[in-house]
Amino acid sequence: MSEALPVIGAHYAEIALKGRNRNMFVRSLKNNMFHALRGEPVRTINHVESRLLVRLDDHEAVDRAVEKLSRVFGIQWLSATTPVLRTDDPLADLARVTDTATRLAHQDAAGAKSFRVDARRSDKTFPMNSQAINEHVGGALQPILKLPVNLNHAEFTAHVLVLQKEMLVFTTKVRCGGGLPVGVSGRLAVLLSGGIDSPVAAWMMMKRGCRPEFVHFFSGRTREETSVAKNVSLLTKLARWSPRPFTLHCVPAYPYEARAVGTVEDAYDMVLFRRYMVKTAERIARRENCLALVTGDSVGQVASQTLHNLRAISPDVTVPILRPLVGLDKVEITDLSRRIGLFETSIEPYRDCCSIRSPKPVLNAHPNELLTLSDEMGMEDAVTEAIKTSTKLKVGPEGLIEKTTRPEPA
Ligand code: ATP
Ligand code: MG
Repeated sequence: MSEALPVIGAHYAEIALKGRNRNMFVRSLKNNMFHALRGEPVRTINHVESRLLVRLDDHEAVDRAVEKLSRVFGIQWLSATTPVLRTDDPLADLARVTDTATRLAHQDAAGAKSFRVDARRSDKTFPMNSQAINEHVGGALQPILKLPVNLNHAEFTAHVLVLQKEMLVFTTKVRCGGGLPVGVSGRLAVLLSGGIDSPVAAWMMMKRGCRPEFVHFFSGRTREETSVAKNVSLLTKLARWSPRPFTLHCVPAYPYEARAVGTVEDAYDMVLFRRYMVKTAERIARRENCLALVTGDSVGQVASQTLHNLRAISPDVTVPILRPLVGLDKVEITDLSRRIGLFETSIEPYRDCCSIRSPKPVLNAHPNELLTLSDEMGMEDAVTEAIKTSTKLKVGPEGLIEKTTRPEPA
């Protein structure tokens, strides 16, 4: 029998709990997997008994494909498997499974001090139950491996998954991000600073199936002078988790700054600037059909993020503001940032427009106070000017794709 094409098993978890909408989630996951595998020799991706099976035309592509798929949200774990096609002779099929498991053990069991076989029957019509398969394959492997069986903490496991048409043999499970496929939960506008926190916040919302747009505020009159390049680098990394390129809205800080000079007291400068960012992002969110705003705020992290100030900046903003990092401390956020592969870029020095605000903000601004100050300084005009002068960039995993220098309609 000719050698079967390699198969990668993509196992979902949360999607399996969905009821009537499950097919929609699976379709979206499958599309996102196709996107992630662009350029790879994919023959088919099929939904087979609660998992998606990716068939590749080339054994050489397996490791690359697993690496790419490991960043597709919705997948809980992946396995690169060797399929054994089923015939009408189960014992002959099992003999071939044993041969395959033996071959894989020679490659992958080096140095292991114990082993086990872990069989699962997705197709319960197979005439032997899982335990019988474990004993059959394990009994054949033991004299070859010469290792004791350890059912709970084996250092080498040969997995056998019995499906209707084939049996998949594999030795490694790659843990992935889990969550929901990007796109199923709707669009969001993420306020992206270029620091550590906000890209992690975006990643967490992508994991919940949301598709982010990004809004970045920069100081200086043109975005070329500024922090925009750093945000493009961050998004280039984050785009590896996304089926589509990102849009980055670049918004100047000067419409606020020009009006704040001489009218806003130092102590209120930072909180009012936060208000300017949120109010402008709200307008962009409405224009782009985003259902919520996202920030990287964590309660109490810095003075502008006290509960009082978080409440005070947006009493009249009706788009929900999601803060996925709200209960995490900096160590936890930094760990996540490293895990996602963003940290090294996030800590590169840059001139953030918040860092040039007055360093000692009030700790407990009141919403009414900020509404009055906003009127006095002309916040609405500042926001309108910001929208008129903002520009858009497109960023994918290979970097900047296109610039629109033409300002967007308000
Ligand atoms: P870090 O705390 O790691 O410096 P950060 O992204 O959390 O980075 P903060 O100063 O703590 O920055 O700001 C809190 C939140 O406000 C950010 O997470 C982000 O959502 C938003 N924000 C701050 N500055 C900007 C900016 N220049 N453009 C867009 N959003 C911003
Ligand atoms: Mg922060």
